[in-house]
Amino acid sequence: SSRPDEDLLDGLNPQQREAVTYRGQALLIVAGAGSGKTSVLTRRIASLLRNREAWPSQILAITFTNKAAGEMRERVEHLVGDSARGMWISTFHSACVRILRREAEQFGFTKSFTIYDSGDSRALIKRLVKEHEADAFGLTPAATQSRISKLKNELADAESYARTANMSDPAERVFVELFAAYQRELQRANAFDFDDLIGQTVFLFRAFPQVADVYRRRFRHVLVDEYQDTNHAQYALIHELTRPPGASTGSATGGRPLAGSGGMMIFEAPSTGSGTGEEDGASLTVVGDSDQSIYAFRGADIRNISEFEKDYPGATVVLLEQNYRSTQNILSAANAVISHNFDRKDKRLWTDVGEGEKIIGFTGYSQHDEAQFVADEIEALRRAGVDYSQIAVFYRTNSQSRALEEIFIRSALPYKIMGGTKFYERAEIKDALAYLVAVANPADEMAMRRIINRPRRGIGDVTIETIARYAVDQQITFRDALANSSALGVGPKIQAAIAHLDAVLAEASEIMLPASGELAPPTAVADGLQLLLNKSGYYDALRASKDAQDEARIENLDEMVAVAREFARNNPEGTLLDFLTEVALVSDADDLEDASGSVSLMTLHTAKGLEYDAVFVTGVEEDLIPHRISAGEPGGPQEERRLFYVGITRARKRLYLSLAMTRAQFGEVTVAMPSRFLQEIPLELLHWRQSPGDVNSRGGTQSRALNARRGGFGGSGSGSGKRYGDDLVPLARREPTGNLERFANKIPSKVRDNGDMELAPGDRIRHEDFGDGRVDAVTGEGAKRVAHVRFDTAGPKKLLIKIAPISKL
Ligand code: ATP
Ligand code: MG
Repeated sequence: SSRPDEDLLDGLNPQQREAVTYRGQALLIVAGAGSGKTSVLTRRIASLLRNREAWPSQILAITFTNKAAGEMRERVEHLVGDSARGMWISTFHSACVRILRREAEQFGFTKSFTIYDSGDSRALIKRLVKEHEADAFGLTPAATQSRISKLKNELADAESYARTANMSDPAERVFVELFAAYQRELQRANAFDFDDLIGQTVFLFRAFPQVADVYRRRFRHVLVDEYQDTNHAQYALIHELTRPPGASTGSATGGRPLAGSGGMMIFEAPSTGSGTGEEDGASLTVVGDSDQSIYAFRGADIRNISEFEKDYPGATVVLLEQNYRSTQNILSAANAVISHNFDRKDKRLWTDVGEGEKIIGFTGYSQHDEAQFVADEIEALRRAGVDYSQIAVFYRTNSQSRALEEIFIRSALPYKIMGGTKFYERAEIKDALAYLVAVANPADEMAMRRIINRPRRGIGDVTIETIARYAVDQQITFRDALANSSALGVGPKIQAAIAHLDAVLAEASEIMLPASGELAPPTAVADGLQLLLNKSGYYDALRASKDAQDEARIENLDEMVAVAREFARNNPEGTLLDFLTEVALVSDADDLEDASGSVSLMTLHTAKGLEYDAVFVTGVEEDLIPHRISAGEPGGPQEERRLFYVGITRARKRLYLSLAMTRAQFGEVTVAMPSRFLQEIPLELLHWRQSPGDVNSRGGTQSRALNARRGGFGGSGSGSGKRYGDDLVPLARREPTGNLERFANKIPSKVRDNGDMELAPGDRIRHEDFGDGRVDAVTGEGAKRVAHVRFDTAGPKKLLIKIAPISKL
């Protein structure tokens, strides 16, 4: 009872205790959702520090998002106080950026390298695809980008790939050329894309063992959360970091060969030995849940967990089975759903917090109806004392947020979209960042190309190519070429414009990039940004515009300057590079703004690791979850099921599953079918809400409409609907494109049931909105019969015969 970390073990169950106190080389904690994996990792770090078994600087903890990193840091600091400073708690990407900024000069980059996000790499690839005329070989920018990314996640480069590819196939040859050209361009621009951040760090460690040893000696304890979603490159990085320092890279002492390592046979040397003596590898702790593996599409490899014991012989495995997050009803639903995945180790989560409320199901008429239900229910929860910040709404695809947002705005319901990238995807923000990048990394030609004629300076493509050629000829950067505007042989007006831009960039550099050794004032980034926007004429051009959008752009740029000031407050010694790094690594789950007091909206992918008192999983429909793209992919539906499992296991006390009968998506309005996953939830766990009137006493058109719907449809419809009673029936309804908005605004007081209207090709009909038309064909059966009608004025439409407002002429 005299352990300094005794209080850290308070309230932990025996398995959790073991995970916190275990001291050995390799520890794998596998457990279902909400069983305390992340908590245990946090306490393990605190315990190491508290017992003085490690200095903070010897700790490297990897989380899945920056947000999760921030929370873990906060908790550790809360547990051990100031002595936590100096730990590295970050995402894979952030940790690699830190390493690369220090070491980039070892291999031909400078520390001021730019980080290309996926939009940036897409732009570059697009240019190369065009130059190589690769379109003709079916190599679209999107396809090329995703192939390159996949290969990089496997640690393959163009050269090693070429050795395994079928090079007699011209398309393959072009792809290899593109891959190589892309990599050359990145290097020339002194830039890394997201995949490179990890892959090049692995490369660095393998090529320069003495550099790797610095980090191996430094980080004595490496801990990784959400290990089930690591890809091969990340796996390799962890492996490199936890090797004994001084070990040579090529020693083939076992382990599994690395895929995509090209012709070089690189074998992973497992960390062996016991104790933590100086020459041992770092201790490694990984936690994960194979049922929550949801990033296979980004190369996540579940083998990293399933083969951990093989990769790290002598590893200890701890299983956690008690769930502390959710009620039994929520857990039982989660268990039931995930048990439909074959090929998994059965693990049963249990809880002792009691059954709790039933899960609430709701079927909306349209996605607007569904959104209205969510909004009403949130208000009811709020009245019952649940804080907005304890409520989350999930969806499968980003576009689903729009209907929710519309209703939330109308209901004055405060919400926040988790997914910080949106703001940074705006054109004007990208421009502002390009200006900053142009200052920070003069080699970044893409940034230069982006800003050179924004605002318009009369510099066209011809001039840009002239500058680019001059830069190549003189072997100088694009930026340096600008400084030589008089040598470019362009007209005097253009020359003056170039010289002006050059002068503005130079002035900004002076503010933002102080001479070495000198510390820039904290406000340097914000001041520099403001100067760039003012003196470049960017602000003026927007102000002079009559476009209302441009006013919003000015506000966004002001917001950007505010973000820079905020950054300065939080990081008094932060540099321009730090700022650009932070901005580049803002990930889906990160949120720059304070989300307190708001409901959180996010995709199911983003929801990983989080928890809320009340959770709404919306759009629980076939084609959404499981997503229709996944249907044709091997393992796709299983991965979708895991995603659904992740969603429902975020809920502490209340879980809502909702869907709509019709949904506008993929550019058309379609009949929505309930997700197969709904049927996997035992009936007795679910209560299908009859109408919003049950939640509160809302009357009005909506309740009327819902009642009418029940009256109109009761008892008919598909078999799957029957399980859930009237509310889910029928599921079939097809509305012509564009009509849905109108439809939602004037929900009909009586819903039609054309029941058994007989229609045949050649019949003429009249539609309330579209007028007269001729039936071309009839497809489908029973309640789902669809008439393909050519309207005299409205053109061809598809109508669900049963409910369309039509009559036979
Ligand atoms: P996920 O798989 O979703 O990432 P997890 O396994 O990481 O979940 P945590 O987030 O660490 O689980 O814990 C879930 C909840 O249970 C948290 O609110 C945590 O504080 C709580 N918790 C964990 N262990 C205990 C415990 N021994 N006693 C009480 N509460 C606990
Ligand atoms: Mg967790």
